Amino acid sequence: MKVFVAAMCLETNSFSPFPTGPTAYSSRPIYRPQPGDGLEACEHHVGYLSFIRVAEACGHTVVRGTASNASPGGAMVQRFYESLRDELLAQLQDAMPVDMVCLMLHGAQIATACDDCEGDVLTRVRELVGPGVAIGVMLDLHANLSAPLIEKATVVAACKEYPHTDFPQTARQVFFAVEAAAKGEVRPATCWVSIPMLTLLHTTGEPGGELIARARQFERQQGVLSVSIVHGFPWADTADTGAGVIVVTDDDRPRAERIAADLAADFFALRAVDLNHYLSLEAALDLALRADTAAGPVVIADASDNPGAGTAGDSTVILKALLARGVKAAALAAIWDPLAVRIARDAGAGASLPLRIGGKAGPASGEPLDVTATVLALADNVQQRGPGSMRGWPLGDVAAVRIDGVDVLLHTERAQTFGPDGLETLGITPADKRLIVVKSAQHFHRHFSAIASLILYCNAPGGRSIDFASLPYRKLKRPIWPLDDIEFDGN
Ligand SMILES: [Zn+2]
Repeated sequence: MKVFVAAMCLETNSFSPFPTGPTAYSSRPIYRPQPGDGLEACEHHVGYLSFIRVAEACGHTVVRGTASNASPGGAMVQRFYESLRDELLAQLQDAMPVDMVCLMLHGAQIATACDDCEGDVLTRVRELVGPGVAIGVMLDLHANLSAPLIEKATVVAACKEYPHTDFPQTARQVFFAVEAAAKGEVRPATCWVSIPMLTLLHTTGEPGGELIARARQFERQQGVLSVSIVHGFPWADTADTGAGVIVVTDDDRPRAERIAADLAADFFALRAVDLNHYLSLEAALDLALRADTAAGPVVIADASDNPGAGTAGDSTVILKALLARGVKAAALAAIWDPLAVRIARDAGAGASLPLRIGGKAGPASGEPLDVTATVLALADNVQQRGPGSMRGWPLGDVAAVRIDGVDVLLHTERAQTFGPDGLETLGITPADKRLIVVKSAQHFHRHFSAIASLILYCNAPGGRSIDFASLPYRKLKRPIWPLDDIEFDGN
């Protein structure tokens, strides 16, 4: 069979100060297939690569389309979105006739004149291939589900783990379901339930881990093709924003409906659990500074300035608090500030100089801090590992500076902090610190949990705050929890 594979991903934060355009691909370039390309040519697009691997292993002919994965940010500039979309459609047109289409999409992609890019792409792909071709879609679990996205595809499934370590497994699941549909061996019947809530759910512990274990139990039953717990992406302001569940069975819609309602009710019951783990800035620092750090540093997640969710990554809010409290033996990874990096590079390692840090991108970034900094080390093109199969985003060129006992990484490529790689590359030993602040909401967890004595999630002011009532939503459908006090039983 002939399989067309492509990818287009952007997690859109409607409250980000950045439009998404070509520079959002500077650290993870758009892959445009060339004749003779090996798998290594597209290895930084994990979901896409996983589809190609499994399709080729099954002996199918794979036609590669373009794969793009933008650094999370604001809505994509419309003409740029349309050019990427139309490029993909033209490749599919050239590949016709095909038997299967496998797409890696995010599920929270917005363009300036399109609130549902995935629905738009799927509608056009279905129009092009016709009703008889099986279309499989893999999503990030931070997706906001729409009717066109689900109904124009044959099978849609999201990864289950947060951090997203299971894209390869999810790609295989989608692929085999779609392949079976293409062969006429199954008739996928999908039920999806939209859950009116804005929330977060970590799967590194309970009860999030238990919920996805239940989803997997259903998947082991005969006739259940896939079960997805979709968390939604609360910072994308659309009429579809919210959580959901997708269940795909073999020709048994009532059963899909029962499973979806069951899991949706369970998920709604957990809506406050992980939000309640978030601490105010002052509470997080109080707890961190009282903690016994003999077994390792306390790690505070500056989740409100997580560039992985589209924020700038240059907020100074927590750094300002650390300096005000006179905290020593602390490190912060990392603040996006290409200008400060350039100045530190010119000054050179060992220099002590006045430096203005961060707070440049917008009001959510806090104020720039004017400090006296000592340049500890400099490094070019610093790479980070991602958790599991996920690829980390590079930090770019990095300067490590010390400010009153706080070591701060300044870097040139906007990216969340996935692990201690950046600190270590710059000669900073995490185990020597009492406190490490990371700009990440959860993808840091895999690598930092190995060295931390305690992990705290901080809801400082910022562009990814969980104070949803403070966000200037315009399109969000109401009622929705926690903005409204509602009941929901899964139906
Ligand atoms: Zn995600």
